Amino acid sequence: MKITKIFTFDSSHMLDGHDGKCQNLHGHTYRLEVTVADSLIQGGAKDGMVMDFTDLKAIVKQEITEPFDHAFIYDGSNERESQIAALLEGWNMKTLRLDRRTTAENMTVEMFGRLKKAGLKVCSVKLWETPTSCAEYGEV
Ligand SMILES: [Zn+2]
Repeated sequence: MKITKIFTFDSSHMLDGHDGKCQNLHGHTYRLEVTVADSLIQGGAKDGMVMDFTDLKAIVKQEITEPFDHAFIYDGSNERESQIAALLEGWNMKTLRLDRRTTAENMTVEMFGRLKKAGLKVCSVKLWETPTSCAEYGEV
């Protein structure tokens, strides 16, 4: 059985070295779909549930929404992006360092890893960068 919960957050980023407009600093209202797969809980307060949506929301909030929302998300291995992050941090602005380029594809891998590490039985993460563009990553 699978359940999915949808979240939104706003972040800024850039793709240094991109051969188009995405090399510029810009932002997205990201839409995130987290799918959890498990058997149904038998008996007790959570009878008939994969997991409580409230508990799912709390984990995603802690691992993703809070660190990513209104942050400049950057690739810590990239010189230019790191310089911009250092400037923002000097002004006490929110940043989030990732160890990979901040494409939607890489961000789904990052988010999947964070949720799995937090103990969630996540089966897939789908990240919408615009209303018509998304990346999906999952593991069986
Ligand atoms: Zn972008």
